[in-house]
Amino acid sequence: MSDEKSDCVFCRIVSGDEPAQVILENELSLALLDINPLAQGHCLVIPRRHVPWWHQLTAEETASLFTLARTTSKRIMKTFSPDFVTMYARGRRIPHAHIFLIPTYKGDPTDRHFNALEGFQEQASTLAGLRDRGALSLTADLLRKTQERVGLSDGYVNAFDPGSWLKVYRELKYSLFQPGFDRQIPFLEHLHHRLV
Ligand SMILES: [Zn+2]
Repeated sequence: MSDEKSDCVFCRIVSGDEPAQVILENELSLALLDINPLAQGHCLVIPRRHVPWWHQLTAEETASLFTLARTTSKRIMKTFSPDFVTMYARGRRIPHAHIFLIPTYKGDPTDRHFNALEGFQEQASTLAGLRDRGALSLTADLLRKTQERVGLSDGYVNAFDPGSWLKVYRELKYSLFQPGFDRQIPFLEHLHHRLV
């Protein structure tokens, strides 16, 4: 086991070296109780494989994780009858992908947190430039072109992050089996020179 994995509490739970209240599991994922719950029944769904961010999961892991999240959420609804189950993924504290499933009731901390975020989203002057109709159109265009021109469908490219583009460029450059590889090179070379 690498240091990264032995330092990771979720990897230790997956290997059975750390106790956890596992609720459900399948071949690629586990659902377990969060040990610092925001509400009774607050669960986490994690992949068995160590990857820091949920968008690094394979298609099979993604399907497994979200299927388990849905089943677990239905169980939370039936057991505790919250208004609904909030789902989100972050992972700054524990860099092993995990989905939060939090039973949510009107006015509770999770509800107030997301209401505050929505208030900020709609009113913040710092975000006004992004809400402009032209800016939204430009953003959508950037995201659409990223998929079409690079030819990747899993969406891990961040159009605003030059590092992300360079990563794709390098992966494609050394991938002999990438469909459309030859056609993409001139565009990627151009992009490379523009960015570095
Ligand atoms: Zn891990």
